[in-house]
Amino acid sequence: MTSSVSPRPSGDDPPSTTAGGASSASFVLSGCHVLTLNPQRDEYASGYVAVDGTQITEAGPGPVPERLAGARQIDASGCLATPGLVNTHHHLYQWATRGRAVDATLFGWLTELYPVWARIDAEIVRAASTAALTWLARSGCTTTMDHHYVFPRAGGDVLGATVESAAEVGLRFHPTRGSMDLGESTGGLPPDDVVEHIDAVIGATQAAIERFHDPSPGSMLRIGVAPCSPFSVTRELLTESAALARSSGVRLHTHLAETADEDDYCAEQLGCTPAEYLDSLGWLGGDVWLAHCVHLDDAGIARLAATGTGVAHCPDSNARLGAGICRTRALLDAGVPVGLGVDGAASNEASSLLGEVSAAARFARAVGGPQAMTAAEALELGTLGGARLLGREAEIGSLEAGKLADIALWRLDRLPQAGIADPVAALVLGPPPPLELLLVNGQVVVERDRVVTVDEQRVAESARRAGEVLAVLARGDGVGLGGTTPPDPPACHPLGPTVGRPSRLARPSARIPPSAAIRSGRPLAGRRGWPGFAGFSPRLTPAGPGPSRPVLRARLPQRSPAGPGCASTRPRRRRRSTRPAARKPGPAAPR
Ligand SMILES: [Zn+2]
Repeated sequence: MTSSVSPRPSGDDPPSTTAGGASSASFVLSGCHVLTLNPQRDEYASGYVAVDGTQITEAGPGPVPERLAGARQIDASGCLATPGLVNTHHHLYQWATRGRAVDATLFGWLTELYPVWARIDAEIVRAASTAALTWLARSGCTTTMDHHYVFPRAGGDVLGATVESAAEVGLRFHPTRGSMDLGESTGGLPPDDVVEHIDAVIGATQAAIERFHDPSPGSMLRIGVAPCSPFSVTRELLTESAALARSSGVRLHTHLAETADEDDYCAEQLGCTPAEYLDSLGWLGGDVWLAHCVHLDDAGIARLAATGTGVAHCPDSNARLGAGICRTRALLDAGVPVGLGVDGAASNEASSLLGEVSAAARFARAVGGPQAMTAAEALELGTLGGARLLGREAEIGSLEAGKLADIALWRLDRLPQAGIADPVAALVLGPPPPLELLLVNGQVVVERDRVVTVDEQRVAESARRAGEVLAVLARGDGVGLGGTTPPDPPACHPLGPTVGRPSRLARPSARIPPSAAIRSGRPLAGRRGWPGFAGFSPRLTPAGPGPSRPVLRARLPQRSPAGPGCASTRPRRRRRSTRPAARKPGPAAPR
């Protein structure tokens, strides 16, 4: 067994490690280049990874040891084995609203999309989530979080729909129960009819924890608590959410410091920065991770480091919305835990976690020079870094004995990568290679660039219909996007008859039997084409006033009187410079 990828010296060729001295394995991936990301950061130009049930039992250099001769061997030559990628920020439902408000800032984009999102229901979310999760798997993702914060009163069990979708696709899932309770009438950004009352939020969040959270080792499902952002949530809800999360032993998440507009909002409404605001509420800590953090000053970075608060870096979404570039080098140098996220599909139409790994490296270098982030370091953010943010670093994020068998096998012997000197650079800086195999908990989810747990074509068709149904429902409310006024939905749209009725979308349920390669041990080879995206919603137009419908006017808590919002009072200030600081020389990243 030989690997076609060029060899990379791996130090002293350390011996492989085994789980508790055991040498059992149900199958072994052999002859591949292995990037372990173990504590020694061992990398083998030709090695093997042994799996028994849900766990990795060995990862080592060279040929498969004699003690594993009884295990089924899968020839993985020509491939690079890495830990499965970990996605730390997403909004799965947004798959149904991709391709909209494409040239808007965050606040403009939100203002345009909030009324559309107000019409989602469980079936739309199920179809959108299944598509988003299926595509995530295709980009090497084995574990993902979801931040769902839109809960229409008539929308049904939207959180439950995301959980079912994740189980169907087969990814390890960390959904968070999000929330918004600060509507326009009380000083927030979202319209009043998409916010909830604080009591409803806390009750539903507690119920979600009791219903779904599985804290056991190897868990496939853990819940978090995630009020949406400082400009859509009251201080009371932020405080009570943190108390609930900590009393329940679950993790805490929100958006923070994403744009200069948010910075201005906090300065004007609260008299402090977004980070100071959360700090004043006792939010920061090792059980918290924050999405974006593009606009952090040095003091904010220092507070995140001192408290162990993590950051979900979402470079493509930040670029798509023109929000800026996160100071990842400064965060890492300060010791802040950093992971990667694709963010919602409506602000990142690519939605590729491997793409975020690449963007993290390229963006850091664009502002900090070619040594600002190595390819391996970017890959580490997308694996171990993400695992740490989700509190799973002892179980996932590296290829080591005793860790869960979440493994990505990338094919590097095709035209774009064959013969390249550095396989890790090929993966991170080159075009996306075929994903030969993706294992989650030892189970095959992707084989030869195809998801095998669901029928991709049915998933794509359901997502397309979900987007169209949502567009028609939103248009019924007079919500439209750009261009000219469309005809009445029943006359022009194949989904017209569904308007005003609950959507009945086909559930993607056809299952393909588990990998024949795993069962038979035959070599993995070949690939099929990338199916590409389906279901971009048509660009709609302002349709004029639609039929009136009840507006959710919950008993919103009153906004605190104007004045400093933080414990540490600061003079209000205008937008400050967000230019990233020059990189300080730091230690070379281990390979
Ligand atoms: Zn987000």
